[in-house]
Amino acid sequence: QAQEPAREAPDQQAALQTLLEEGTRMVCTGRTHTDRICRFQDLCYSAEAEEFIFFHGNSSLMLPSLGPRRFQPALLDLSSVEDHNTQYFNFVELPAAALRALPPARFLPDVALIANRFNPDNLMHIFHDDLLPLFYTLRQFPDLGPEARLVFMEGWGPGPHFDLYQLLSRKAPLLREQLKGLGRLLCFPRAYVGLSKATTWYQYGFVQPQGPKANILVSGTEIRRFASFVLRALNVSVAEGRGPGPGPGQGYIVVFSRTLNRLILNEAELLLALAREFQMKTVTVSLEDYAFADVVRLVSNASMLVSMHGAQLITALFLPRGAVVVELFPYAVNPDHYTPYKTLAGLPDMDLHYVAWRNTKQENTVTYPDRPWDQGGIAHLDRAEQERILQSREVPRHLCCRNPEWLFRIYQDTKVDIPSLLQAIRGVVKAGPGPGRPKRAQGPYPSKVREARCRASVQGAAEARLSVSWQAPWNLKFVKAKEVQYEVWIQEQGENAYMPYILTHQNHTFAENIKPFTTYLVWIRCIFSKNLLGPFADVLVCST
Ligand code: UDP
Repeated sequence: QAQEPAREAPDQQAALQTLLEEGTRMVCTGRTHTDRICRFQDLCYSAEAEEFIFFHGNSSLMLPSLGPRRFQPALLDLSSVEDHNTQYFNFVELPAAALRALPPARFLPDVALIANRFNPDNLMHIFHDDLLPLFYTLRQFPDLGPEARLVFMEGWGPGPHFDLYQLLSRKAPLLREQLKGLGRLLCFPRAYVGLSKATTWYQYGFVQPQGPKANILVSGTEIRRFASFVLRALNVSVAEGRGPGPGPGQGYIVVFSRTLNRLILNEAELLLALAREFQMKTVTVSLEDYAFADVVRLVSNASMLVSMHGAQLITALFLPRGAVVVELFPYAVNPDHYTPYKTLAGLPDMDLHYVAWRNTKQENTVTYPDRPWDQGGIAHLDRAEQERILQSREVPRHLCCRNPEWLFRIYQDTKVDIPSLLQAIRGVVKAGPGPGRPKRAQGPYPSKVREARCRASVQGAAEARLSVSWQAPWNLKFVKAKEVQYEVWIQEQGENAYMPYILTHQNHTFAENIKPFTTYLVWIRCIFSKNLLGPFADVLVCST
């Protein structure tokens, strides 16, 4: 990456004077440590103490003002992983006068985004925990952006995919190890600390077994916007039209293989069978044998991606719309319990088909009980436990990250049973790969209906009517809505139940179930294209 010419170094003497007089200023977003990002002026870092320092001066500002709650458990999460107790951020407080007794402060010119990478050795973690959150945090605050300096504080080396982090900013990221070299007391005149969690969709099972996050806030639109950025930054051109081929002979299938462990033992047979079944070329890629840009180039034009469960499947986020993700699980591993890639494929507007296949035949698995524990070995366990694991037909639900039965099973090699795999794929993609499932209705939602009114009339002792009318939502005249409907709820005051109606006109007289001398609440909202539900207008109160 081309480096920008260094910005004019700040006037160190003037910067120090400001810090001495004013102290550190901090204002944060977020109500709890898990959704907090803080903006600092003059946040410093002591290489000796390996601590960030907040200097109290005449203009110091610390908002939120938490008192001791700043340590219960921390000011904020430094990584995008929720409330992980190795990823907390806090600072040490000092009076500004202490600067005279400390090594000389060195002020950095760049706006910094300070965060932890969670696990930069693993491609899934790199994308899900780091790159996507960094990408969108850089877009959240106006003084961050393509010139921001990323500062990674987790203390790891660059890792195998450091080049991906370098794509996010024109400035080279700094690792904690490098900070020492820049100064014993390093000060960031402007810094943001923390990462947005808005794009993460998976929790890894630290407090409950792993699974999709409870409240997913991201859709395929944001994932694909990020993917396009990465493709452009990697100089990968994507084929015109960007979609899987319409029929036989057009598209191709990528089999993503692992070469170190969790192998597909009959890969050649698998490739042949897929080619024959779908009448498409098949190619194999692996992280070991291909440059990452080449992997992404291949995946981004593929019709189908087939792979064992594993971090390499995160590359599914580069697949074109309508493509198929086929995830293979070793013996005794239940696909429903490990769904980071299924969840990704199923995000709204991601437009991917997803197929899970599981080896159910023990004779088709190869186990490695004698490997080190972190590669699934179980020789270190007592005999009875080893025996239990060997007999077990499914790994029970478990927490992250060292469950030996899980590691034993997930690091098996698999001979894929071709007929059952093809059947699983056919079951999900009836007519072979092609355009995705019917798209969720897109586009703007209706605004509120306007000028809602009701008129009541009583017809004798037992009968009454409610005439309700309203105007179309204000934004309808700007929107090409396929179909416009109105939903009206009529609720007797004090009751929980209500009668719902779907109407196409802007007025209606209700007679059934309407009683005389009763007060009704009338709720009205507009619906575009059957499933874009707008907000309810202010409730109407109507008495018969
Ligand atoms: N990996 C790989 N080839 C292999 C095994 C692993 O490229 O044969 C990569 C994998 O994609 C991930 C990292 O090495 O980025 C760590 O793999 P591990 O098995 O620990 O994690 P998992 O893939 O199960 O998330």
